[in-house]
Amino acid sequence: MNQHIHCLINTCHYYAEGNKCVANEIMVASDEFGSTRQDHIDATMAKQLSPTPADTCMATCCKTFVSKGSNQTTADRVQKLS
Ligand code: SF4
Repeated sequence: MNQHIHCLINTCHYYAEGNKCVANEIMVASDEFGSTRQDHIDATMAKQLSPTPADTCMATCCKTFVSKGSNQTTADRVQKLS
């Protein structure tokens, strides 16, 4: 599969030049899920999680986001592609 994830969040650890996401996997979830679950609950656990419905794009978030320079960049075990 030739998949590209485009992202404009340039303060994220996984953001790369050209508005690309270079995480090896990401998880999109509802805002409620993203704001209440710990950092380690992320894409690497996706198969174990229940779907989180949303009615609009405004109610979704990238759970994999982590700030550049954060000490939590390895908490979710997502890999940054080189
Ligand atoms: S992990 Fe999410 S917020 Fe970060 S660059 Fe990728 S898509 Fe954007």
